[in-house]
Amino acid sequence: MTLGKRQKRGSAATARGQGMARSLSYITAPQLISIARNPRVAIVDVRDEERSYDAHIAGSLHYASDTFSERMPDLLHAVKGKDTLVFHCALSQVAPFPLLSIAVRGPSCARKFLEYLSETKDAGINNVMVLDRGFNGWHASGNPVCQCTTNPCTGNCA
Ligand SMILES: [Zn+2]
Repeated sequence: MTLGKRQKRGSAATARGQGMARSLSYITAPQLISIARNPRVAIVDVRDEERSYDAHIAGSLHYASDTFSERMPDLLHAVKGKDTLVFHCALSQVAPFPLLSIAVRGPSCARKFLEYLSETKDAGINNVMVLDRGFNGWHASGNPVCQCTTNPCTGNCA
């Protein structure tokens, strides 16, 4: 076990050295809370119309999944200076069957963005993550949410 951990740390350092995100990882709500105030972390909400009638995580950016592919260049521009992106949809689950696409918008958009990053030089993004259990899990655990209607959210309301 110890050996495996050491190897993992080594490969993360290599990825950081090349300034390129390598693979998708999951982050839990408590882990996100501990890093959310870091100015180099961006939270990307890829829910669709739910964002307008549901609340959102304070400070999150909104890039709806139905137009996500064409807006990836805008997103890359919006996260200039960030090194960690945390994607989420309502559930952010890895579906047992590909047909359940509504639950996997977070992971699939994150994966698309990773591919996009791999074709982009010097994006500066080292970590692409998915929020475990998505917005619904975040909200259900009593974590702070924001109800503002500004986009991007200023994050001052939480
Ligand atoms: Zn807000």
